[in-house]
Amino acid sequence: MVNFMVRNFFIRKILLVCKVLVKGNHLSRHKRAITLLSKTLLSVTILINFISIVPVHAQQDELPVYVVQSGDTLSSIALRFNIIPDELASINGIDDPNLLAIGTRLKIPGLEGITGILTTQVVPFGTTLNSLSRQNRLDKNALIKLNKFTSPAEAFAGIKMVIPIEDDTPALNPIAPLASGQSLLELSAINQSNPWILSYLNSIDGTWDALPYELLYRLPDDQAQMTTALPDVLNIEIDSLPLVQGETVVIRINTNDTLNIKAEVAGKSLHFFSETTNEYIALHGISAIAEPGAFPFNLQVTPESGQTYEFEQWVLVAPGFYDNDPEIYVDSKYVDADTIAIEMETYENIISPTTPTRLWDGQFSPPVGEPICIRGWFGNRRSYNDGALLYYHTGIDYGVCADLNIYAPAKGIVVYADELIIRGNAIIINHGWGVYTGYWHLSEFQVSVGDEVEPGQLIALVGNTGRSTGPHLHCEVRVNGTAVNPLTWLGKTFP
Ligand SMILES: [Zn+2]
Repeated sequence: MVNFMVRNFFIRKILLVCKVLVKGNHLSRHKRAITLLSKTLLSVTILINFISIVPVHAQQDELPVYVVQSGDTLSSIALRFNIIPDELASINGIDDPNLLAIGTRLKIPGLEGITGILTTQVVPFGTTLNSLSRQNRLDKNALIKLNKFTSPAEAFAGIKMVIPIEDDTPALNPIAPLASGQSLLELSAINQSNPWILSYLNSIDGTWDALPYELLYRLPDDQAQMTTALPDVLNIEIDSLPLVQGETVVIRINTNDTLNIKAEVAGKSLHFFSETTNEYIALHGISAIAEPGAFPFNLQVTPESGQTYEFEQWVLVAPGFYDNDPEIYVDSKYVDADTIAIEMETYENIISPTTPTRLWDGQFSPPVGEPICIRGWFGNRRSYNDGALLYYHTGIDYGVCADLNIYAPAKGIVVYADELIIRGNAIIINHGWGVYTGYWHLSEFQVSVGDEVEPGQLIALVGNTGRSTGPHLHCEVRVNGTAVNPLTWLGKTFP
């Protein structure tokens, strides 16, 4: 900005000198020539003014900067940017790589055409490499190179991308995409933007070249609402990206229309519910043994009044870093594959209905009294009888450290209270919206099927029934059919 002002100042000075020369010279040929020079300079000024709106990607000798974060080492930074640690050290005058302080600004060589601060950002759902390059006014190929992608499709939602940010060039604000049949000129009028600047900022060849439903950006002079590429959907949000093995994810759609929504994550259907007008929410569980990587997220939205829109993006699932439990030895009938399969089918049938009324409100409370002692953690990999059964732990095991009482963690309806072979005496509570909790190995039931329970209500006593090696409560939470980390529900309010 300072450079721009200095440049304008000098150009104005030159114009002034030209005008003085014109006044003081009576030879018309000279006057015409100088007027021409003056007009040319005026055009240059206008041109420079226009160019200053778009990024001035600094001088050749300027290198992009990375700010050292907690946990970084010289080698990890060098690896991230594909350079040799010694080269990184020598360019930045570092003698002792062990004395790398957090916050140090390191120059990163080998990234021609890229300047600014190299930041790490999580790609939000609904964002593509095209829209990222538009929003940050960067060359798409530079972003691909910087992030070592082999194709633009690798900008999965939830992935961490390195994105250079110019100190003095704020990112652009998203605006509503073009509707079918709408021109960029019309869209500019609605958003009170100059269509030519809009087309320049969005790397569109001309006002005729914009595609419907592509996310477009404007200069950040006012706060336009974040929009997605679906015309009747104002906002789609997936909380806590990337998704994590064994955790619960909330998908929220804000809209100004009544929608029929079909959505699938990795081939599994989501169920959307609405409590308030303009908002649809789905809860989904990511399996603790889901292979980390990218999964397709497909969304089909049909507004009450119109045509179906489809949107698909790959969403990243990160590892949950679960431990291995020590070997467990039980009677062989508890590791029989047929028994396990039949009981699982019974369980899945009980928890498959998704009740449209949400019964719980706020965080879940612990199912046992204090002091609480946890004997088995969610997600841990387990082996029974020297590998006769390899599985993972689907809940939390609470030891008996207070008394035998087990309490409902939230409001719900008892849908099962009976004996099972593997799970022993078992209670299952339906909390609505596809959320269920299960309590296994009980000694005594204090509720029956059909009872509506309140948070903190006594429901059963701890026991040692079924596949259990000592008195304990196994408590699990199922979301959309999948076991998720129950401790997350004790510390976070869903939805
Ligand atoms: Zn357990």
